[in-house]
Amino acid sequence: MERFGVFCCSGCGIGEAVDLAQLKSSAEEAKPAVCLEHACLCSPEGRKQIDDAVAEHQLEGVLLAACSSRAKQAEFAFDPLRLAVERVSLREQVAWSHPPKDEDTQLLADDLLRMGLARLPKATPTKPVEEEVETTVLVVGGGVAGLEAARAASGMGHPVVIVEKSDRLGGHTASLEQVVPETPPYERLQTNPLPARIAEIEADSGIRVLQGARIKTISGQPGQFKVEVESQGQVESFTAGAIVQATGARPYDAGRLGHLGYGGSPNVVTSDELDEILAKGELKRPSDGQLPKRVLFVQCAGSRDPQHLPYCSAECCGRTLRQIAAIHARHPQVETATLYKDMRTPGQLERFYAAVQAQPGTLFARGEVSSVEGNGRLTIHVKDSLLGEAVDLEADLVVLAVGMVPNSADGEAIRTLRDAQRRAEKGESETQKAEAQKKVDELKSHEGTEILNLDYRQGPDLPALRYGFPDSHFICFPYESRRTGIYAAGALRAPMDIPQAVEDGWGAAMKAVQCIEAARRSEAVHPRSGEIAIPDFFLQRCTQCKRCTEECPFGTLNEDQKGTPQLNPLRCRRCGICMGACPERIISFPTYSVDGVASMIKAMSVPEEFDEKPRIVALLCENDALPALDAAAAARKGWNPWVRVIPVRCLGSVNLVWIADSLSRGIDGVILIGCKTGDDYQCHFVRGSELAQYRLGNIQETLTRLALEPERIKIIELAHDEAYRVPEVLDAFAKELEDLGANPMKGF
Ligand code: SF4
Ligand code: SF4
Repeated sequence: MERFGVFCCSGCGIGEAVDLAQLKSSAEEAKPAVCLEHACLCSPEGRKQIDDAVAEHQLEGVLLAACSSRAKQAEFAFDPLRLAVERVSLREQVAWSHPPKDEDTQLLADDLLRMGLARLPKATPTKPVEEEVETTVLVVGGGVAGLEAARAASGMGHPVVIVEKSDRLGGHTASLEQVVPETPPYERLQTNPLPARIAEIEADSGIRVLQGARIKTISGQPGQFKVEVESQGQVESFTAGAIVQATGARPYDAGRLGHLGYGGSPNVVTSDELDEILAKGELKRPSDGQLPKRVLFVQCAGSRDPQHLPYCSAECCGRTLRQIAAIHARHPQVETATLYKDMRTPGQLERFYAAVQAQPGTLFARGEVSSVEGNGRLTIHVKDSLLGEAVDLEADLVVLAVGMVPNSADGEAIRTLRDAQRRAEKGESETQKAEAQKKVDELKSHEGTEILNLDYRQGPDLPALRYGFPDSHFICFPYESRRTGIYAAGALRAPMDIPQAVEDGWGAAMKAVQCIEAARRSEAVHPRSGEIAIPDFFLQRCTQCKRCTEECPFGTLNEDQKGTPQLNPLRCRRCGICMGACPERIISFPTYSVDGVASMIKAMSVPEEFDEKPRIVALLCENDALPALDAAAAARKGWNPWVRVIPVRCLGSVNLVWIADSLSRGIDGVILIGCKTGDDYQCHFVRGSELAQYRLGNIQETLTRLALEPERIKIIELAHDEAYRVPEVLDAFAKELEDLGANPMKGF
C-alpha cells in the first residue's frame, strides 16, 4: 500500500490521557501521506476531514486512532472495495483504562499505534464474489414449521418448493379436529387452523409441493444449491438459494417403556394412539371396545428421564390437556387423572390448564409411575407422590404422553461411519481394520438415515448435538446451522409445541431470505454479517494436509481427488479458522492475515533486558472477549499496562506462528481469551475455542521440549457479560509472568 493516512482523535478523554503530538510524530516515521488530529473524529466534521484527505491524497488506507473497532461503526463505515481501514483503540485500551499522562500509558499508546501502522500496509484489495443467485427457498418437510416457512418465504416474494416424504401435508397435526387455544380467552379448544393453511398453500402459485418425494442430493452453496429430488421414480433438478429443514419429530419408542405397561396390556396406549382412537369419533378401550370409566394420563413418559430422553419434550403437557378437554366434551361421565412430575404450561397455556382443571371429573396429581399391572382394569403403582407415600390407582385406560425425538440425521456421524467402513474394508493392517470395525458397530444406527444428502466433504446432513437435534447457537442464532444457508426449524431444532413451531417456521424463513439477499450482495451471514472479503488460498504451496477442510466448522471447503481444498465462497462465514489451521500459512483475508498480525507482534517494543515489566500479547476474540474488555474500559476498570491487545476473529483463527513469533521476540507471555467450549458453547464459530485449546496443547508440549515454561501461554474462556473478569485475568497473568521471570529468549 503506497498511500495511507493517519487520523487521531483527541475526544472522549484521549487528548487528556496521552500526548497526541508525540504520537503523531512517531506515526510520521511510517511516512503516511497525511497525519491529522480532530477533536471529535466521529462527528460529521471529523468524518469530512477523513473523506477530504482520502480524496485529496487518493488514499488506499486509513488508520483511525480513536475508539474501539466495535464503536461508531456507522460513522466509520467506508467502502471496503476502495479503502482499507485499521482502527486503533486509544479510547478503550488506553484513555479509559490507564492513568492519564503516565509514562507507561504513553508507551502503550505508542505501541498500539505502531502495531496498527505495521498491519495497515499488509491489507490487499477486497474483491466481491460475483455469482448468480437463485431466490427459491427449498423447504424440506411439510409439517407445521415447514408449511409456515413456505408461507412466510412466499409472502416475502420468494418462490418455494416443499419436499414432503409422505403423501400428505401437515403430518399428525393435520388430522386433529381441535387444538389448544391460541386466541383469547385461551380456555376452550379451538378448531385446528392447519387444514385451512394447507388449502392456502395449495392455492399459492408461488409454492410447489412435491409429495411422496425425497432429496436425492444437494450440492453447491447459498444462492446456488443444486437440488435433485426423487419422486415416484422420477428425478427432477432445480436450483435453490437457501434451505429450511423442518423434518419435525416422531414419538419416542414406547416399546422401551415396558415399566409403564406399554406392550403388556392393549389398554396402555401412547397419546398419538389416543388421537387415532378419538379421530374415529368415540372413546373406546382397545381391549373390548367399551367406554372406559377412568382414563389415566402419565406425563413425561420417557422425557426428563436419564434412561430415556433427558430433556423436556415441551409439547406433551399441552397435548394431554387437549385430550382431556376432548374426552370431557364428548363423554362428560369419564373421569380423568393425570400424573405429572411438573405440569409445564408456559404463557397463555396456563389459562387453558386452569380451565381444564376446573372441569368436574378431572384430577391432577404429582407422582411418578413405578409400574402398571393388569390387563383389563389396570393398577398403577405411584411413588414420590406429594404425600411422600406409595399410592396405587386404578384405571381402564392408561395414556402415555411420550416425548419427542427429532427426525434428523447426524451428518458428522454418517461421515465418520463411511470413513470407518472404508478403513474396515481396505485398512492397512488387521489391527487397523478391527479398530475401524469397532467404530462401524458403534455408529451403524446412522446407516441410511440421510435426509438432505449434501454433497459436502464434512458429511451428508447437518451435524447434530448429543440428543440428535441439529446444532444451533441457542442464544444468538437459533435457526443457524453449521451449514451456511441451511436453517433448522420446528421440532427438528428443539422440542416445541404447535404455536412455537409456527413461529419457528417464520424465523427460519426470514433467515433463509436474509441469506439469499446476503449472497446476492456477496456478504457473509451471521456473525460477520456484511463482511465481503473471502479467504484467499495460495494453493501453489498447499501440501494437501487437509487441516483446513477438516477444521472448517461450516463445511465450506470440499476437496478434489488429491485433497486440495476447494472453496465455496458463499458458504464461508469468514471466521478465519482455516487460516489458524494451515501450517503452510497460505490462507489469508485482505485485511486479516497471518502476516498482518505477525507484523503487529514484530512492531511491539520489547526491551532486551527484563525490567520486571513482562511484555504480554493478548489475543482477544472479537465476539465475546473484546466486547467484555470494552465494557470493562467503559466502567473505567484498568489493567496491566504491559498488555498489548490484538483482536482476532475467533480463537480458532490464531495461527501458532504468532505464538512462536511472540516468544522468539522475547515477549514474556501470550494469553488467548475466547468463548466457552462444550455442548453449550458460546463460540460464534462453533469450534474455534475448542480448536485453539487443542492446538495450544500441542504447542505447550513443544515448549516443554525447548525448556521454555508452558505457563507462558494461557487460554481463558470468558463470556460477553464477564467484563469484570477481564482486568482480573490480565493482571493475574502479568503477575504469574513476573514471578516466572524473563523469557529466556529475550535478547537473542
Ligand atoms: S473462513 Fe471459516 S468458514 Fe470460511 S473457509 Fe475458513 S474456516 Fe471455513
Ligand atoms: S491447511 Fe493449508 S496446506 Fe493444508 S490443505 Fe489446507 S490450504 Fe493446503
